[in-house]
Formats: sequence, C-alpha cells, structure tokens
Amino acid sequence: MRLIFLGPPGAGKGTQARTLAGEQGIPQIATGDMLREAAARGTRLGLEAKSYMNRGALVPDDVVVGLVAERLDAPDAQKGFILDGFPRTLAQAEALERLLKDRELAVERVIYFEVSEQELLRRLTGRRMCRQCEHPYHVEFSPPKRAGRCDRCGGELYQREDDSEAAVRRRLEVHAAQTAPLLEYYRSRGLLTAIRGEGSPQEIGSAIRRAAGGNTAA
Ligand code: AMP
Repeated sequence: MRLIFLGPPGAGKGTQARTLAGEQGIPQIATGDMLREAAARGTRLGLEAKSYMNRGALVPDDVVVGLVAERLDAPDAQKGFILDGFPRTLAQAEALERLLKDRELAVERVIYFEVSEQELLRRLTGRRMCRQCEHPYHVEFSPPKRAGRCDRCGGELYQREDDSEAAVRRRLEVHAAQTAPLLEYYRSRGLLTAIRGEGSPQEIGSAIRRAAGGNTAA
C-alpha cells in the first residue's frame, strides 16, 4: 500500500495516518515529524528547518525531498508507506514521482482531507502535544485527564510554536497557494479521492479505507 495523505494543516492526516499505518504494518512518513525531530536534536538541517517552521513557512524543497528519498530506502518502507504532509509543492510532487519511478514504484492513491477553514483554526489553535510521545490533545475536544500532562506517558504537554493563531493563518495561506495546486496534479492522473475530514475519527477512518481500496478492511 502506497498512499499520500493530502490536506491543509489540522485536517487530521497525522492521526489517521498513524492508525492506518499501524494496522497495515507500514511506516507513516511524516515530514513535519521528521523535521521537528531533527530540530529537537539540534542538527544543522534541523536548526535550518526550525526557522521556517516556526513562522509557518515551508522548508525548502531540496531539504525535504532529500529526507524523504533517504526514508523511502529504509527496509521498513519496502512493503509500502503512508506519506503524511509530503508532497506540499508541485516541485516535491514531481521529485516524488521521479524517486518512485527510479525504484519501479508508484503511488496508488492520494487521499484529500476536506475540512472547513473555521474548523481548522479551532483544531490547530486548541491543539496540544506531548513532548515525549507526540500524542495530540485538544483543550476542548480531547483534553488530558490531568491538566498539562499526557495520559499515556505522563509527559509534559505543549503548544507547537506554529499552532499560534498568526502562524496557523500563515500555514493556511501557504497551503492554499502552494499545496492546493497538487489537487489538480493528482486528479489529472486519476489518483485523487477527496473525503470529508469532519466527523468522528472512526467515520473518517472508514472513508479512508473505502478510498484506499478493498484491501484495507480493519
Ligand atoms: P506538519 O507537522 O505537517 O504540519 O508540518 C509542520 C511544518 O514543517 C510545516 O509548516 C513546514 O514548515 C514543515 N514541513 C513539513 N512538511 C513539509 C514539506 N513537505 N515541505 C516543506 N515544509 C514542510
């Protein structure tokens, strides 16, 4: 199974990718997570990426494409993968097509998560993450049992710097300008399925399984 999850920030791609990838025994390749890890480790690449991420801008294509190229060659990605948050520009989509072609592979389906802007703003500005295990919470929709602490591992919860209202607005603009054109790119290749990204996680999960084809029954 080789899937791309496409959609604006806050659409729920990460949550759904984690679940489906776990069920299928394939990796979730989330460029945002990879960049945040590199930033937390303080690598040169991570520190460079951080300056873009904190203001809600995209990290340069060559940096992200390099990360993905390396990740696709890891042993666990040979059975399949879910790309979450990549590609985000036409140049990245073209680079991905070339990377896969060189490996005699292709993307099977691109799933686009449709969510209203008002809902995205509510989701992102209320989001909190665990510093240790990255499990997401929401101050209103899924608060932790103990304020500020992760239910799973007891880690400290924090707000991502790019989840501030100003950065979120910027990320939504960047999505509209740079990532939305990918819809046409994949539609014209017959690969795109749009699903409604609002509703319960179970409903959204079912819509994804239907879109991905019959071989994903949970
Ligand atoms: P995410 O966790 O997917 O919302 O990504 C957080 C941030 O990481 C984005 O706002 C970008 O700054 C950066 N980022 C993640 N994926 C990409 C990508 N494919 N291309 C460029 N920047 C990215």
